[in-house]
Amino acid sequence: MKIVSVETRVCHARMRNWVFVKITTDQPGLIGWGEATLEWHTRSIVGAIEDLSVLLVGEDPRRIEYLWQMMYRQHFWHSNGIVRATAVAGIDLALWDILGKSLGVPCHELWGGRVRDYVRLYCHLGGGKMEDFYGTPVDEAKRFGELARQAVEAGFTAFKSMPVPEQMPIEGVRPVKAAEACVAAMREAVGDGVDIMVDCHARPSPQMGLVFAKALEPYNLYFFEEPCWPEHMDGIAAVQRAVKTPIATGERLCSQFAFKELLEKRAASIIQPDITHCGGLSETRRVAAMANAYGVAVAPHNPQGPVSTAASIEFGLATPNYLICEAVHQDVPWRDDIVSWGFRVEKNGRRVYPGTRAGLGVEINEAEIAKHPFEQELPRRSFAPDGSVVDW
Ligand SMILES: [Mg+2]
Repeated sequence: MKIVSVETRVCHARMRNWVFVKITTDQPGLIGWGEATLEWHTRSIVGAIEDLSVLLVGEDPRRIEYLWQMMYRQHFWHSNGIVRATAVAGIDLALWDILGKSLGVPCHELWGGRVRDYVRLYCHLGGGKMEDFYGTPVDEAKRFGELARQAVEAGFTAFKSMPVPEQMPIEGVRPVKAAEACVAAMREAVGDGVDIMVDCHARPSPQMGLVFAKALEPYNLYFFEEPCWPEHMDGIAAVQRAVKTPIATGERLCSQFAFKELLEKRAASIIQPDITHCGGLSETRRVAAMANAYGVAVAPHNPQGPVSTAASIEFGLATPNYLICEAVHQDVPWRDDIVSWGFRVEKNGRRVYPGTRAGLGVEINEAEIAKHPFEQELPRRSFAPDGSVVDW
């Protein structure tokens, strides 16, 4: 069996361009699909995949680790930068899809079979609709409560929110009290039976991350995400040491070596590798095994498209320390027109049960993708009141 071509299909989905990877083999009808979506880097990713394709065409797609090593190590630069790691990831997903299809089994069967009956999904407030999740002002605590109630009404038992505002390196008490009011309103709205996550989006400095974590500790969050920049790993570790709330981080790390440092510093209780940024299923499986040795759980970052979600679910079905699957469902109304998948989703509880389709179990409708061609992503630019740049 040989790889004939490695191509990309770009699909504009409002906030991001989904980048799908299509690998065609010389076996009639046998193709693999992956995803390499990277916001604001769409042209770079498409180019990086084209660059990597010269290493792959003519090779046997079932030699996944051999090809992964080639993509990581050949051409000198290694793949631990975000663009190349994402390109490798998209290709890696498509290779696993091909291997599963060639053997007629879902990917989780290739990794030792199911370790659980279902994977639990969690949503973003508003189901991933940009205006609700990113755009609800933090001084509107009541609105946070309403959106939390809607998530539970939609069947979710866990959801993520963003009540920690954009900020300068040191802030006064006002944003801290605003965040606390939002979390109090959400807890009041849904009770103790629903899990609430807070994503700081790495907006705070290490010290402010600690201040917010302390203020929100009494609300028993399921996890508190990215309390400060990943570059300040010691700062993240200090937050984790200071509070009992589980700290989650890792969506911007893209190699086992970065996660090794995070784990050695005991900086988080939950790591969030992004399967489409962190070298694909091959590298994320290695990262998860390493985390397991530290007693750390894995909850992959996944606000992207449907192939990324399918990969996270297949990975979760076979990974013992996998915790929960991030998923968005209301980012664009035509999501389900692009991809059909083989999983069964139980709406009450938003549990995903395995399907019988081979590989990643996704079928892509290329004619539908063609209706949503590339568009430049909306710029996201954030400034403090004095005009200085802050994190979005
Ligand atoms: Mg995040």
